Amino acid sequence: MKSQNPFTLEIEFSHEEMSDQAVSDALYRADIAFQDWRWRSFEDRAVVLNKAADLLDERRDRLAEIATREMGKRLSEAVSEVEKCAWVCRHYAEHAQAYLSDDQRDSDKDESYVRYFPLGVILAVMPWNFPFWQVFRFAAPTLMAGNVGLLKHASNVPQCAVEIERIFTDAGAPRGVFTTLMIGSSKVADVIANPVVKATSVTGSGPAGSAVAAQSGDEVKPSLLELGGSDPFIVMPSADIEKAVTTAVTARMINNGQSCIAAKRFIAHADIFDDFRDRFVEKVAAMKMGDPMKDGTDMGPLATQDIRNELAEQVEKSVKAGAKVLVGGGKGEMDGHFYQPTILTDIPDNSPAATEEFFGPVALLFKADSAQHAIVIANDSKFGLASSVWTTEPAEQDLFINRIEAGSTFVNSMSASDPRLPFGGIKVSGYGRELSREGILAFVNAKTIGIT
Ligand code: NDP
Repeated sequence: MKSQNPFTLEIEFSHEEMSDQAVSDALYRADIAFQDWRWRSFEDRAVVLNKAADLLDERRDRLAEIATREMGKRLSEAVSEVEKCAWVCRHYAEHAQAYLSDDQRDSDKDESYVRYFPLGVILAVMPWNFPFWQVFRFAAPTLMAGNVGLLKHASNVPQCAVEIERIFTDAGAPRGVFTTLMIGSSKVADVIANPVVKATSVTGSGPAGSAVAAQSGDEVKPSLLELGGSDPFIVMPSADIEKAVTTAVTARMINNGQSCIAAKRFIAHADIFDDFRDRFVEKVAAMKMGDPMKDGTDMGPLATQDIRNELAEQVEKSVKAGAKVLVGGGKGEMDGHFYQPTILTDIPDNSPAATEEFFGPVALLFKADSAQHAIVIANDSKFGLASSVWTTEPAEQDLFINRIEAGSTFVNSMSASDPRLPFGGIKVSGYGRELSREGILAFVNAKTIGIT
């Protein structure tokens, strides 16, 4: 498992894959750890999660640097990511008990309620794009519910994987409560099949999600899928256009364009289309590609050569089909896995730009004649993760909230995850919810109690 710096292209770290015996020992230890951890009080577990948050704060700069060197995100974004991990740990340390308190219900019994119990060992298959956040978003609620976690991280971020386990260990989590399995994807099926593992959580691509969900289904184990998206960002004439354009650039280019809930399809109303397009092009054209470690860089490299080449191919095919490049549209002159900040418009139906997720700094611009037309374009996608709509008209806001097929709609702001709000998608963007109360309910036995 290798970590190649996507800016310098140097191999900076490598780690042997674990042997089958080592994996089996780790699963055994996780199961033993669960038998104790599940009966610990919320206060005890919160001590560990709060300590993990403190360690994330203390180690913030070093962890951020590791993420930047492993997957190329800008350092300031990596710093924010680590801070957000501390936030989600503290959030669940504070709220888990209330989220999981007995839920009284009326019935013909003298007393009836739902009480929540942990399921056991939960396997997380995680991606490289937010190499800390995606894992802590899973781990904080999972551990606070009394489950224990196994992490199979993406093969290109082994240093992050090692650091995450170290944080939980140093925070006082008993051995086996959180374990990083240094394995490739071919070994995941065997882990899922092990009776010790009780459920799975995947963040990543559709094929990875389908594979893990199918294997989990074979074993009758629940899965939670947080997969890709091609989120719409709708701008109507009443919107503050300057604010919408500035946010559009951030919403598309965040994390060098590699975010599942990045806005990817920009749908501007015909009345303001030209204005929105011109300002959008101007701001994207001004973005500076460069070293992600340096201040002043707006766009770092993509995480791997494959990701960059796949994006280049998607753009090429879309342009061949008739899409027009307004800015960017190539790899540029720099070494490293760069792709220029790009905007495509006049996008033909059935081209990759209309149907696929673009996991890099490429914005897809559409024109809508009305709010209804914008909804048709927004919903003409197999994905349904998040959505962002820009309008000050209450009737339009309501229309978008009711009609857009997505796991969330943000009005006059960009889509973003927040520990206090549930997060997840519909359609091929996945199922289940992370974060907030819904997130901690993902991996529990909601046991019905009736007392007569
Ligand atoms: P993957 O989905 O392939 O990787 C995510 C995780 O899944 C990794 O840990 C990977 O392991 C694992 N994995 C992959 N295939 C399987 C499998 N068959 N069984 C079990 N585990 C598996 O993402 P990529 O890095 O290949 O990126 C490809 C595309 O995925 C991107 O271009 C983007 O479209 C999408 N993506 C979406 C993300 C999101 O946040 N929604 C995040 C990352 C990617 P290993 O690394 O060892 O292969």
